[in-house]
Amino acid sequence: MAGVTSPTLTTDAPQAQVDAARAALADETGVGEWLGRTVEAAGDDPADGTVSTHYFRAQKPGYVGWQWSVTLAVLDGAAPTVDEVVLLPGVEAITAPAWVPYRDRIQPGDLSPGDLLPVSDEDPRLVPTYSFGDDDLSPDARAQVKQVAADLGLGRVRTLGPEGLDQTAERWWSGQGGPGSPLAQSAPHPCSSCGFLVRLSGTLSLSFGVCANRDANDDGRVVAFGHGCGAHSEVRLARRHEPQPLPEPVVDDLTPELLESF
Ligand code: SF4
Repeated sequence: MAGVTSPTLTTDAPQAQVDAARAALADETGVGEWLGRTVEAAGDDPADGTVSTHYFRAQKPGYVGWQWSVTLAVLDGAAPTVDEVVLLPGVEAITAPAWVPYRDRIQPGDLSPGDLLPVSDEDPRLVPTYSFGDDDLSPDARAQVKQVAADLGLGRVRTLGPEGLDQTAERWWSGQGGPGSPLAQSAPHPCSSCGFLVRLSGTLSLSFGVCANRDANDDGRVVAFGHGCGAHSEVRLARRHEPQPLPEPVVDDLTPELLESF
């Protein structure tokens, strides 16, 4: 075989090959009309031989739009050899959506109590806090290094690296606790001047804190300094919004006797 041709479906095929392909489907049920073939590989000289796949409409219940596929090899004018017989979905077939790994399907908020979501050792968001020295350490040796690191107070095995910090800052900034949320857009003052803002530490503390106002929508959530809400600690009502003072009470001392005396 000298070359590979584009697998375009054509209706140009020797009748002997079509017959050979149909014969290969003799044991199958629901074989409809021949739809065409694709040439997978062909020699410069036709005498070198070809590998082609022939398609027949499948007429099996539940397989609407599917096709029987028979791949034949023809070499030096010899009788065709059947390479493969499979049932394949055509363009009109109803097929299952593409498989998405569990790790990619899960969304924030999907975890239930007891669920586990392991983080890959190569997760780019995390960087090692300390080195194990030798990448080929056995699990036991790594456990010992971790124990020594814990005894020395070196802290966590991994922490957020530059990429993890950038992703986090972008997510928080563009989320509901960011300066662009509808709540923030109509806030009288930003969180940066609110007495309920709890400071973080580290790089993210330069732009974010945690809201600790029990009456605010964002209580317990990370908020950007440019975020804000109407429960800001220094918010005051305008005079026209303040409750109007009630008039002096009037005691009704009119009795039936007093009424008759008039
Ligand atoms: S109460 Fe409102 S303004 Fe204050 S920190 Fe919370 S979200 Fe920000």
